[in-house]
Amino acid sequence: MKYVYCRDTGMRTCNFVAEGKSVEEAERVLLDHVQLRHPGLIDTMTFEEEEKLLEHVEAMAEVK
Ligand SMILES: [Zn+2]
Repeated sequence: MKYVYCRDTGMRTCNFVAEGKSVEEAERVLLDHVQLRHPGLIDTMTFEEEEKLLEHVEAMAEVK
């Protein structure tokens, strides 16, 4: 399983961990969570910033 952490998006106080069979799946779960719980985060982002965030999250993804 792959794990991506909400705090890697800059939400230092959030302990949400998204998991998926692939990084892509975990990212999708994380994005759903961000849209639901931190709607302001994505809204203020440009497409480029969002891409950069996903790259960062991908780089931080853990395999366990
Ligand atoms: Zn969160």
